[in-house]
Amino acid sequence: MGAVFKFTEEQEMIRKAAREFAEAEIAPYAAEWDSKDICPVELWPMLGEVGATGTFVPEAYGGVGLGHVERAIFIEEISRYSAGLGIALMTHHLAIEAILRFGSEEQKNKYLPILCSGEKIGGLSVTEPGGGSDFAGQAASAEKIDSGWVLNGRKCFITNAGIADINVIICKTGEDEKGRGILSAFIVETGTEGLKPGRHENKLGLRGSITGDVILDNCKIGDDAIIGKDGDGAKIGMGAIGEVGRAGMTAICVGILRACCEDAVKFAKERIVAGKPISKYQAIQFEIADIRTDYEAAKALLYTAASIKDEGKPATTAFAVAKYFATEAAVRGAKRCMDAMGGYGIVNEYAVGRYLRDALASIPSGGTSHIQKLIIAGDTLKNF
Ligand SMILES: Cc1cc2nc3c(=O)[nH]c(=O)nc-3n(C[C@H](O)[C@H](O)[C@H](O)COP(=O)(O)OP(=O)(O)OC[C@H]3O[C@@H](n4cnc5c(N)ncnc54)[C@H](O)[C@@H]3O)c2cc1C
Repeated sequence: MGAVFKFTEEQEMIRKAAREFAEAEIAPYAAEWDSKDICPVELWPMLGEVGATGTFVPEAYGGVGLGHVERAIFIEEISRYSAGLGIALMTHHLAIEAILRFGSEEQKNKYLPILCSGEKIGGLSVTEPGGGSDFAGQAASAEKIDSGWVLNGRKCFITNAGIADINVIICKTGEDEKGRGILSAFIVETGTEGLKPGRHENKLGLRGSITGDVILDNCKIGDDAIIGKDGDGAKIGMGAIGEVGRAGMTAICVGILRACCEDAVKFAKERIVAGKPISKYQAIQFEIADIRTDYEAAKALLYTAASIKDEGKPATTAFAVAKYFATEAAVRGAKRCMDAMGGYGIVNEYAVGRYLRDALASIPSGGTSHIQKLIIAGDTLKNF
């Protein structure tokens, strides 16, 4: 397919392996995970074996030692068939990113190998009922006591809620002189007293990933559970979401756009109307051309942003642009694919309805399009 971004030979081999894995282990089951809203946790060790869980983690901590371009390839290939599994995997990476970038040597040695192997599942809890867009307004608290910390509060819309073993949770530890919350990040293992699962959302899309509440009810953890130091929570949480989270959501939507391209082409070649395949009609060709154009543009934005991150340069704006474009483009792409299929587009036997639902559900996750536009506008007003 298109050659907008030049991949290395090794990256092409990773894509081939990831695609074979997705075709064998994901494609046959994706519709069932969606309809029953089941997250296939039993796949985690296999995801570990193929290198999808620890792609960007150095080998010293049990990872594959590659980068964010390769991570995006895995998520794109998996999301081509199951965007729900795509977001569950991408959120697992958020816990990894927080510990890898800011954790102590002890924390890295303790948690990264088991997260990379797929023995354990990770999650990141930031959002609260008070509004996910208001990152600084978090109310869940962490109070210092002699033996460590006591956490209280409720996180909502958390991916992998109830299935994650290793939860990175952002809490407020105080207020600065201007009354703004001081945030810190903690590792809370499932099984810790006071860490409770809450409600699970019955979502429109990205089903097959679990989204729900994480409740902290006098949850006591040791001093060794804090990541970095008191007050580092904003940079840890925003760092993980701003780059790794938005990269993940972009890769999911690139996968959805490829699915729309492939399904639209297949349907258009097979469907005969008035004696010829609808692929011969210019109206259908235009739908396919528009899906393809969005797919290529989203893919170029994704892999360009991921390579900026791999060079160690700030990529927040590049990921905001990529995430905003790709999530909205995936909605357009699924609608166009549906339009090209006529009445069949709304029949659940076809996957396109799921693509549309998954694309719509991708918009708020990792920050809404409005929030991406605020980031993009802020950067543009400063630098242009
Ligand atoms: C499928 C899914 C998975 C998720 N997984 C996780 C997870 O694993 N961990 C986690 O912590 N969170 C997760 N989230 C939460 C997600 O980050 C939030 O939904 C998102 O940040 C938006 O927050 P909100 O839903 O509270 O909307 P709100 O913040 O209440 O926003 C409501 C509306 O107001 C707009 N708005 C709000 N503030 C502004 C502003 N300043 N300027 C302009 N417009 C504004 C928004 O764009 C939106 O249209 C997930 C969400 C979804 C849908």
